[in-house]
Amino acid sequence: MNSFEISNVWHPYARVPNEVPTHLVKSAKGVYLTLENNHKVIDGMSSWWSVIHGYSNPIINSAMKSQIDSMSHVMFGGLTHQGAIDVCKKLVNITPKGLNKVFLSDSGSVAVEVALKIAIQYWHNKNHNSKTRFVTPRGGYHGDTFGAMSVCDPVNGMHEIFSGVLPQHFFVKRPTKGNSEAALNDLESTLKVNHNSIAAMILEPIVQGAGGMNIYDKDYLVGVRKICSQYNILLIVDEIATGFGRTGKLFGCEHANISPDILCLGKALTGGYMSMAATLTNDDVAQNVGVLMHGPTFMGNPLACSAANASIEVLLNSKWESNIKRIEQILSNELMPLQSIKSVKEVRIIGAIGVVEMKNNINMKDAQDKLIDMGVWLRPYGKLLYTMPPFVTKDDELYKITSAMKTVVSNL
Ligand SMILES: *Cc1c(COP(=O)(O)O)cnc(C)c1O
Repeated sequence: MNSFEISNVWHPYARVPNEVPTHLVKSAKGVYLTLENNHKVIDGMSSWWSVIHGYSNPIINSAMKSQIDSMSHVMFGGLTHQGAIDVCKKLVNITPKGLNKVFLSDSGSVAVEVALKIAIQYWHNKNHNSKTRFVTPRGGYHGDTFGAMSVCDPVNGMHEIFSGVLPQHFFVKRPTKGNSEAALNDLESTLKVNHNSIAAMILEPIVQGAGGMNIYDKDYLVGVRKICSQYNILLIVDEIATGFGRTGKLFGCEHANISPDILCLGKALTGGYMSMAATLTNDDVAQNVGVLMHGPTFMGNPLACSAANASIEVLLNSKWESNIKRIEQILSNELMPLQSIKSVKEVRIIGAIGVVEMKNNINMKDAQDKLIDMGVWLRPYGKLLYTMPPFVTKDDELYKITSAMKTVVSNL
């Protein structure tokens, strides 16, 4: 690898000079990344949940190309354009009912910051100035900016060293399969005492992603919705990872048939083509918030909007629901049997997400080298080896991913 890359280019969750080898990608098409030596690997990560239709989708490509020729960018303050109007309309139509106001931004973390600001301002304007804190289950991940960091898991959340400078929020028992009642009881006892200082609860529905790939029961979401309303707390649902079909429903909220007061979207919103995110609210929230002092320079970027509009069309015009079921079935058939291996703690599957949790930490470099040799790109971290493949991944390609995972697991 190029020495400038190693000594000067900072990568996510890494140091410079970089100690973990990076792999040069020459091009990407469908589910395949072509690496430097023309070795092809299947992207079992969908580039961190985002590339749901695979790379170089002809419909999204052509939508963006024609957008470039008409207008790549224009400021959103005082100006508007059809692409932004169309994305907002689409999001209102497909997200849980009641959510009909859309704030566009440029990344998931910013969408979360906006949601937190909205929640505090909502209560401020209702003369509840003391409601400025948040409650969230342990094990969550909401991004790496300051507000978002403050609601990530305080221990596993990768941001421990900032705990002294972050606002202190309330962390409650994390929901896992079969423990909804205990987790809800913990939430309720926290709210009973502290609801006067809490603006909102924030959580990832059905699956906690980067905080541990934890899948939990829908009863927890049903209970959370009820308890939040009962204690006068807004509910912010962060669907940045779960949105756009990943869990088998268009949005994770639909597993429990709930509507949050505020919803965050990102990642797969543009099919992984551009960085773009959105924060949606219902009428009550928007009315009480009034003027929101937030305005990213690239808010509503026309090129990103063209990708989002095309990606949502491609998704809705596909048989995404039966397709995710197909992926879920294969992941389940192939990975569940790994539970009988001694070094494996648990296998968890939902929608197009397959997670193998080991009892001990996985050596990321060794595992990754092996996986690449077998033609698969995954990014194991901690004790977790997992995949969330593009929705267009074919059966034989899925088997290639799962068999590579099996080989890695059996050799640990
Ligand atoms: C990735 C992620 C974020 C942060 O999004 P960025 O685009 O990386 O800023 C927030 N919440 C969840 C649930 C995520 O998965």
